[in-house]
Amino acid sequence: MTIDYDRIYVGGEWTLPTSSDKITVSSASTEDILGSVPAATRADVDAAVGAARHAFDDPSGWAQWEPSRRQAALERFAVALVARRDEFVHRVSGQNGMPAKIGKLTEGAVPANIVRYYATLATKLEGEQTRKSLVKGTTVVRKEPLGVVAAIVPWNFPQILSFFKIAPALAAGCTVVLKPASETVLDAFLIAEAAHEAELPPGVLNVIAGSGRVVGDHLVTHPGVDKVGFTGSTEVGQHIGAQCGRLIRPVTLELGGKSAAVVLDDVDADAFTRELFETSLINSGQSCFISTRILLPRSRYTELVEAITETVRQYPVGDPFERSTMIGPLVSSAQRDIVESYIKKGQAEGGRITTGGGRPKGLDRGWYVEPTIIADVDNKAAVSREEIFGPVLALIPYEDDNDAIAIANDSDYGLGGTVWTTDVERGLSVARRVKTGSIGVNGFTLDLGAPFGGVKRSGLGRELGPEGLAAYQQFQSIYLPE
Ligand code: NAP
Ligand code: MG
Repeated sequence: MTIDYDRIYVGGEWTLPTSSDKITVSSASTEDILGSVPAATRADVDAAVGAARHAFDDPSGWAQWEPSRRQAALERFAVALVARRDEFVHRVSGQNGMPAKIGKLTEGAVPANIVRYYATLATKLEGEQTRKSLVKGTTVVRKEPLGVVAAIVPWNFPQILSFFKIAPALAAGCTVVLKPASETVLDAFLIAEAAHEAELPPGVLNVIAGSGRVVGDHLVTHPGVDKVGFTGSTEVGQHIGAQCGRLIRPVTLELGGKSAAVVLDDVDADAFTRELFETSLINSGQSCFISTRILLPRSRYTELVEAITETVRQYPVGDPFERSTMIGPLVSSAQRDIVESYIKKGQAEGGRITTGGGRPKGLDRGWYVEPTIIADVDNKAAVSREEIFGPVLALIPYEDDNDAIAIANDSDYGLGGTVWTTDVERGLSVARRVKTGSIGVNGFTLDLGAPFGGVKRSGLGRELGPEGLAAYQQFQSIYLPE
């Protein structure tokens, strides 16, 4: 049975779209059709932004409520999300192939947690501060919600990346129009069902789907939008950033990455390979922050290449709903084409495949690629410089710590990374010299309480932590002569 919506969620109601066009999604593992939602038009964007604008501008509405009142509504929202947890995982894994075991810990669990985290945080931060002027009199410095937010998200972790925007925005008092990627629309419409059940006030959260080029672009540039929150490719991020620059519109951009695992020469090889999956290959390599360049000391190169190869060779590849599966299919046939072309390029550039490189046997349906290790790679190679977004790691030898740090920093990107060592102090001092927004020593798990984002071509601004709430607020200073 397919899941089909014939309405969009605008102004607190399931309303008829202006066109009968549909976005149809298929399973990454079986290629069967899973369902469809309406393809929004520019007129539907106008309606969604209008509803969000109306809700935000209401003189006694959401933006004006005490944070504790918003918290109560957001708690109902969290409860409605938890009630649909399994269905979220089911829809996400069906659409993008994410192993459901990973989906449970991320897509299924994080949305309600992050909604509760921000709803509570907003009640604790002071909204107004009275400062004695440095000249004369006093100034009341207040924080207010930024306004109507356009949230545009990709398909790789569609739920958590939506809630990195929705949760702080709503807690701050903003209203939101969410546009998911066309590969993952069904889980986004389930967010609308949860919002509806929670009785969020009409227009506070609106959900529409449609192509980025038409619907996304109209949303980003819409005169009724005050802030754009985007996660996706660097190319689209550049375009959105340029549009926002022209409009002097605040924007947060979470873009691509090509992060490095700096494996120091005192590493415990077992401890490192145990964590390799989570830090370098989670979600079949379709994750922005993972360490996909593995920098290995020449003094232990052969041993470490072998250890990595043996580890990755054993990862079970298959059906995302099978409990033992670690590597699922890629999101689409187009994504598989991209990944396979990089594997070829890596070899043409002198890389040596130590495991993988092809399609797994016996999986004739679905967009599978074997987890692939390319050793002896130069940091100048395309597979070292460009985001592949698949289960492919480049192994790069280095001479000493300074050389490793220089290679790690020789990248157009700067999102994540890891350092591996038995000496945590040494690891920390290396981590401080790596120019990325986040980095882990001997492991990495995204911390919802700490700022996350990139430098260079990895983006602009930060999500998560108190800093992620501030991204949906602005300051107003009210001067009093007395
Ligand atoms: P994308 O093409 O950047 O799309 C991300 C979102 O932006 C989608 O909702 C997309 O809509 C929308 N969009 C596209 N063009 C737009 C425009 N001109 N104006 C406004 N919105 C627009 O990313 P993707 O297709 O999901 O993935 C492509 C590549 O991006 C991947 O191969 C990977 O390298 C990278 N990526 C990075 C991250 C990350 O977290 N850093 C996440 C996902 C992907 P439609 O798709 O519906 O057209
Ligand atoms: Mg796209």
